[in-house]
Amino acid sequence: MFAYLAAAATSLDIATLFVIAICVTALLGLFLLFAWLQDRITALAWWGLAYLLGALSGAMLQLADATRLPVPPVVPTVLLFTAVGMIWSAARLFHGRPVLWGSMCLGAVVWLATYSSLPSSPASRLVIGSLIVATYTFLTAAELWRERRKSLVRHWPASLVPMLHGAIFLLPVALAGLSSDGGARNLGAGWVAVYAIEIVLYVVGAAFVVLVLAKDRTVRQYKLAASIDPLTELLNRRGFFEAAAAIMAGRQHGKQPVCVIAFDLDHFKTINDKFGHSTGDATLHLFATVAKKTLRAGDAIGRLGGEEFIALLPSALGDAAAAADRVRKAFAAAGAVSGGHAAATVSAGVSCGSAFADIDVLISRADAALYRAKSNGRDRVETCDEAVPAAPQQREEVAAGQDLDSGMLQPVPTLAVPLVGSYRSRRRALAG
Ligand code: GH3
Ligand code: MG
Ligand code: MG
Repeated sequence: MFAYLAAAATSLDIATLFVIAICVTALLGLFLLFAWLQDRITALAWWGLAYLLGALSGAMLQLADATRLPVPPVVPTVLLFTAVGMIWSAARLFHGRPVLWGSMCLGAVVWLATYSSLPSSPASRLVIGSLIVATYTFLTAAELWRERRKSLVRHWPASLVPMLHGAIFLLPVALAGLSSDGGARNLGAGWVAVYAIEIVLYVVGAAFVVLVLAKDRTVRQYKLAASIDPLTELLNRRGFFEAAAAIMAGRQHGKQPVCVIAFDLDHFKTINDKFGHSTGDATLHLFATVAKKTLRAGDAIGRLGGEEFIALLPSALGDAAAAADRVRKAFAAAGAVSGGHAAATVSAGVSCGSAFADIDVLISRADAALYRAKSNGRDRVETCDEAVPAAPQQREEVAAGQDLDSGMLQPVPTLAVPLVGSYRSRRRALAG
């Protein structure tokens, strides 16, 4: 079948096919450079330059056939292999991996080194050249496969395009190995035509893939920027609610509890009035840094506005209250170290509930506990004793018969930190 395809392709005008391939590649190279100018994604510039270099090498090969170019015949092929290596480098750059200059040029160097000693049959050269192209193309596919982990969209087609290209370039190698004379004498001309057609399809497909990846990357960056508070670099309100929803969804499987901590800096207005707004801003930034460092990577922390912060922890009440108190102590210590102005303290309120609970209810309970922390003297953590049950609409959505609140409505665990105590339990203790 492949021999048939190759024979059919021979009947096409190879020179015309190559002119089309060269023009399409050059045009796409310019498009990719234009896309780079807009989005400044370095990989697009590399990909575009690689296409332009590939088109130049194709043009030189064509001209060398028609006229006599004043360059050694090995030059266009060396440029072509460099272009293929550049595409691989562009794929590496896509997810921040460095360009490996030596490996990128290795194909061209191998071709140069073996050129003089290669057997002069076109089929043998085709096989060796195909091996070089296929190797870089599979490496490109592997790089694009890595990208899928960070992506918003399904990315197997991104790897499939270079995989197919590499496989097609390996066909003459397989055919040469299978042929009984071992020389694959008649392989040359037919496969050159097949390559010309395939190259057009590949450059179009790969440019499409890389532009989709770049767009995906840009959307991700904008999405991230829209979720971050610029002053503290914590999540903003919108980012926090998204992150909290994701954590709660992850906890629903095992019906594990979640906790909300509401933080509010103490007497912050006085800091602003006494030391100025910029010192106030620095204090907010300091709190954000301390809180991020003190809480775990799996916790979500955001700034709701002003000097009010919120965190959602995938843990039980005791652990969350202990975490809140660690933040409180660390902030007081950091303020003292940073020169007295931020002798600021923070109060916190903690609530706990089902991962199916309404987050607004969790937040309002944490706020109520925070209010108690303020009225009990500030620089302290208070907790809400009552666990928030699953929201009514969640109950209806989840399959009937499941006990969403198992373990939720039982008494909350005793707090590990002596300073931290619930307002109500202390009142009960005082009353007793
Ligand atoms: P409390 O201990 O009761 O919480 O008192 P407080 O002074 O911290 O609370 P209050 O709500 O009275 O004051 C909050 C202050 O936070 C008032 C506002 O000017 C200040 N603020 C809000 N956003 C920012 C900001 O982005 N930067 C700075 N520097 N100050 C801000
Ligand atoms: Mg305050
Ligand atoms: Mg406040």
